[in-house]
Amino acid sequence: MVQSYKQKYKVESHYDVILIGSGMGCLAAAACLTKEGKKVLILERHYTAGGYTHVFKRKGYEWDVGIHYIGEVNRETTVLRKLFDYITDSQLKWADMGEVYDRIVIGEQTYDFPKGVENFKDQMKAYFPSEEGAIDEYVNRVYEVSRASRQYYAEKAMPAYMKMVVGNRFRKPYLEYASRTTLDVLRELTDNELLIKVLTGQYGDYGLPPGKSSFAMHASVAKHYFKGGAFPIGGSAQIVDTIAPVLGKNNSTILTNAEVSQVLVEDGKAIGVEMKDGKRFLADKVISGTGIINTYKYLLPEDQLRKHSLTAQLEKVEPSAAHLCLYLGLNGSPDELKLPKANYWVYPEDLDHDASIERYLQDQDAEFPVVYISFPSAKDPSWSERYPGRSTIDIITVVPYDIFQKWEDTRWKKRGEDYESLKDKFTQRLLEVLYKKEPQLRGKIDHMELSSPITTRHFMNYERGELYGIDHDPGRFEQKFLQPKTPIKNFYLTGQDIVTAGVGGALFAGFLTASAMLGKNIVEKAVKAGFEN
Ligand SMILES: Cc1cc2nc3c(=O)[nH]c(=O)nc-3n(C[C@H](O)[C@H](O)[C@H](O)COP(=O)(O)OP(=O)(O)OC[C@H]3O[C@@H](n4cnc5c(N)ncnc54)[C@H](O)[C@@H]3O)c2cc1C
Repeated sequence: MVQSYKQKYKVESHYDVILIGSGMGCLAAAACLTKEGKKVLILERHYTAGGYTHVFKRKGYEWDVGIHYIGEVNRETTVLRKLFDYITDSQLKWADMGEVYDRIVIGEQTYDFPKGVENFKDQMKAYFPSEEGAIDEYVNRVYEVSRASRQYYAEKAMPAYMKMVVGNRFRKPYLEYASRTTLDVLRELTDNELLIKVLTGQYGDYGLPPGKSSFAMHASVAKHYFKGGAFPIGGSAQIVDTIAPVLGKNNSTILTNAEVSQVLVEDGKAIGVEMKDGKRFLADKVISGTGIINTYKYLLPEDQLRKHSLTAQLEKVEPSAAHLCLYLGLNGSPDELKLPKANYWVYPEDLDHDASIERYLQDQDAEFPVVYISFPSAKDPSWSERYPGRSTIDIITVVPYDIFQKWEDTRWKKRGEDYESLKDKFTQRLLEVLYKKEPQLRGKIDHMELSSPITTRHFMNYERGELYGIDHDPGRFEQKFLQPKTPIKNFYLTGQDIVTAGVGGALFAGFLTASAMLGKNIVEKAVKAGFEN
């Protein structure tokens, strides 16, 4: 018997499908495959499951790492909610974030993003009365991209012969927007730079400023939150906690502390994996959800990389930005501390987003180009029962990986004084941004720790501490190889690199991968036929 995810299972030497990594993409694919009668094994190198949906606990607090809010799950009728319900047997519950989900702060001015697309439009028109036409057209275009996205993503799961017949036709309408930058499209609608700065005030959700990001990515995030944000009741760990029992029904399971070192390929077909400790697990099919860079650089045998020219594909994509996250634990409940549910996006007053990023990349003493402040304990109605008299806050900014690179080979918690003092400098600056917005919190902090890109590398295995897998620039969306099926028989990809970053994107990737593998549309099945408990 081997200790697996919170339960003891007998681990077998052969499975129908092995999944590498336990992020949202793999969890979703594993649940879909299990529901189709497959016995699957998820192998996760971290000591805890969930990928970026995992939580960590310290000193009587709990922090969510990669979930601050999710859109389109508030109501049971949305596609995303139905997909979540399908893979969790409806056991995952959501708390609405209330009337305002994001607050864009530019200098002394705050611009609220209220729930409901009509409210959003009215609010923007109240801030920018002379831009009514541009705001209406902006929202129209966001929806236009969303409609075009359905065929674009459906194409990814099609069999090769269908791709040949309808592939280009299915991809074209989406690519008309995806291949342009956000700035390019917005400048067509308005020359009001402040409006552009406000409308792109969530760019941290996809990691690239308007001059570099694909408009398709921008539109997908904007639309995702138009109807408000929600947070998993009980915290992000509820995602894996509600999926694990669904897996267990067919003896599918998750092993943690289980690092895969290589995919085994025999006669051109994936046949299983070899673990870091040399143990082998065999399977009819293998899926990697560890990101395309990790997969191609480290998990596939050399001869396969050469045979299918896979290394050349990596030259067409870029790793996304690295980040710092300051995790705070505070004395006092969210009510006592008057913590808001809405997130803050704090920006410099003077420059556009692209210019302020450039300035900061040259000189990290310059004003932060973006600071995101999230109040997870205020969003979770079960928090105060679970952690009475306490609260948490996460504060995130971007940082160049290079300034932390020299600590790559040091050990966690033993990286030395220079590392700690660099982190301390950033910590103090981030705290001042928080106190400016919420001055009542001065003196209330009981515990704090800053994660660096080296922390992300250590726990998540993203080589350059990537926040969001590969970048969401226009070029990414043109790459046909970002799809579930690979040229290696029985070897598949899933996760954020196949669709987009975001829990919703990764989850959808899981459904696409399961659909491509089974040759049947599981998205449609989940949405139309509902689900069975
Ligand atoms: C700070 C931050 C905040 C975010 N906030 C939000 C938000 O508010 N809302 C939202 O929707 N999205 C958010 N995201 C994005 C979202 O969390 C991710 O896009 C999504 O969870 C990625 O899922 P994935 O399936 O691609 O896998 P990942 O979560 O990237 O997981 C990959 C897993 O593979 C494992 N692995 C790697 N190599 C190996 C190996 N060799 N063997 C075994 N296992 C391996 C890793 O340990 C990891 O667990 C945020 C992300 C970050 C970083």
